[in-house]
Order: sequence, then C-alpha cells, then structure tokens
Amino acid sequence: MKKQTQAIHVPYKRRDAYDALSMPVYNAVAYEFDNAQVMSDAFCNRIDAPDYSRCENPTVSNFEERVKVLTGAKNVIALNSGMAAISNTMMALTAQGKNVVTSKHLFGNTFSLLMSTLRKFGVGCKLADLTDPESVEAAVNENTCCIFLEIITNPQMEVADLTKLAEIAHAHHIPLVADTTTIPFTMFSSHDLGVDIEVVSSTKYVSGGATSLGGLVIDYGTTPHFGEVMKNEMIFNLGAYMTPQVAFLQTMGLETLDARYRVQSSNALVLAQKLQTLPQIKRVNYVGLEDNPFHELAQRQFGATAGAMVCIDLESKDACFRMIDHLKLIHRATNLFDNRTLAIHPASTIFGLFPDKMKRAMDVNDTTIRLSIGLEDVDDLFEDIKQALEG
Ligand SMILES: *Cc1c(COP(=O)(O)O)cnc(C)c1O
Repeated sequence: MKKQTQAIHVPYKRRDAYDALSMPVYNAVAYEFDNAQVMSDAFCNRIDAPDYSRCENPTVSNFEERVKVLTGAKNVIALNSGMAAISNTMMALTAQGKNVVTSKHLFGNTFSLLMSTLRKFGVGCKLADLTDPESVEAAVNENTCCIFLEIITNPQMEVADLTKLAEIAHAHHIPLVADTTTIPFTMFSSHDLGVDIEVVSSTKYVSGGATSLGGLVIDYGTTPHFGEVMKNEMIFNLGAYMTPQVAFLQTMGLETLDARYRVQSSNALVLAQKLQTLPQIKRVNYVGLEDNPFHELAQRQFGATAGAMVCIDLESKDACFRMIDHLKLIHRATNLFDNRTLAIHPASTIFGLFPDKMKRAMDVNDTTIRLSIGLEDVDDLFEDIKQALEG
C-alpha cells in the first residue's frame, strides 16, 4: 500500500467494543486485569497491554503505530510537545561529561536546552558548521554522544548533507539525530540517508492545522539500548508521554497530512517565485527556488517539495515591522504549518531575549520575516503581502 492509504488504514491492535471507525479517546488512567499473573505480565512487558496512561495508552499507541508503519521505524514514542521529544531524547543519549555536536543554527529552545539546561548537568555542547565535514570531524571527540541537526534550519534555511554527517557519526559509533519537523516524514526517508533517530514537533504538519502540541521520537533501532531507555526510563520517569485527546487529534491530522502538505508546499513555491518580483523584497530564502544554494541538496534529500516555510528579507527592521503591521489576511503569529498563513519577525520574538551578539552569531537577522504558508488561495496571499509592502 502507498503511504497515503496506510495513513488511513493501519488496523487497530484490538477490536473496539463498539466497532468505532476512528480510534476512541481512551481517557482512562488505569486498566484492569483478570488476575495477578496477567497483571505482572503487563507490568513486566511480557505481554502488550496498557497498565497506566503515563506509560501507555491505547489511543496514543494507535497514533504511534501509524507513524511506525509510515516510517518503517523500530520504535515510535509520542510525547506532549516537540521540545519534550528533543529533551527526552537528549536525556536518554547524554550523561555527565558527554557532549553533543550541533550547529549554531537551531530552534531557539533547542539551542537553550543544549547551551544552558543540559550544561547544568555537566553535558557539553560543541558547535560546528554542519555543512562542512571537516568542521564536524574536528568537533567530535571521544566524549561525543551524538550529532544533532535540523534538516532545514529556521530562519537561516540551511541544509546539511545527511549522508556525510551519518558517515562521520557512524565512524565514531554515535547516532545521527535529526529534527525533521520542516519536511513531513511521509515525503522522504531520513533513515535511508543515515539518520538513526528522528525527532519531530508534531504540533506543526502532523497536528492537522495547529490543533494541539505534540512530539515524536522515531527510532530506527540502530542505536543500542536507546529504545528501551526511552520507553522504560524517560517516559516513566520524566512523564512527558502524549495525552489521549491529543493523540486522537493528531491521528486525524495524519490522515489529512498528505493532502494538506501538497497544497501548502505548492503554495509556498508559487508564492516564493512571485515574491521575487517585488522590488521591496531583497531576498526570498526558500530551498525550493532554483537559485537557492541548498536547492540541489534539498531536492536530492527531501524530494521535489521544499516545505511551507519561506523567509524574506527587507531592507530594515522598520520595513519588516511596517509590512507585518499592514497585513490584512496573513496572521501575526508564531507556529509553522497552520492551515492559515502566519508571519513573524524572528529576531524580535522567538530570539527576542537572546543577546544581540548571539543573534548575530546565529545568523538571525533583523531584516528577516518568516512566513508559514497555509491553505489559502495563493493569489490572495500574494496580494496581501504586496499591499502590506506598499502600506
Ligand atoms: C516548533 C519546533 C520545535 C518545538 O516544538 P514544540 O511542539 O513547540 O515543542 C522544535 N523544532 C523545530 C524545528 C520546530 O519548528
């Protein structure tokens, strides 16, 4: 079966008592057992049966199972945000005295997790240019526990060569961990490119249009003990497992993901091309455009589509604020891959509390506006931006 068919037709593990067509929301905390032996078997993982919803829940398991079928992963764990997926993964992989090799081009909270939160526990963070294998090779040492990257960085839109990074990671017997939030896992196989563990903010494409926060850890089974540590230690001890209501919403989101993504990514490409014709826009930064330095690599790795995040540069911060203030249709909001188009000035918001020096080092520029392209008619979006630039 093709992925879009699978996304809708993955069978349930057990038949529902009422034959409900979509997986019911099992808002139950605990589950009853016929006898003490079965109870012990469930708690000790000798049988697959839920015992307590912080650790396993039928609605969440069903969501995880669908992602597992769609990605071919060995283990999939759903958590209650993208940051929970990233922090739980790091807690499972790192330890005092270890370090993570990554880029300065990172989602703000991930950067802060690695640079300050984990640092308090004696975990180091070594920054390298992930587009330069020599820089990565120089950063990795005997205490490195993983190489971590985002597949299209935000808002710089940098793309690293996953196969090359995987070669370096595997030569040092450490996993390559990729945050693949910006291109759906249904569109390309990160594992085929060498990624060992994928983390996703399912708040974005998967949720079905900003219905809920969620995160996924997609483990391809190539990192010894990682799956067991995640399931039996992190999920149990850190308590960030997805809740059943969210799993229901995000399962619905998975069913429409392909249809939504096709429209949003094609809108993004058409709009990016049209925006290049406007004189007020100094640069349109979108890896789907042929003149983008990462275009070829992005196509080779992720396929024909390039996602629905488009960045534009204007001449100044004032010009950015003026444009944002004059938008009539596009919403002033953060988030990515909502059904509606959103605009934000990253330097003054997401990175607003970062010192100027750090923002400069991270290539977060005052002249950049980030757009997340929705499902509207693309002509309406173009007209809105055009009038806002003239306003
Ligand atoms: C949004 C986002 C996150 C964090 O996800 P939440 O669900 O908001 O916790 C992490 N990485 C990337 C690339 C994101 O876009």
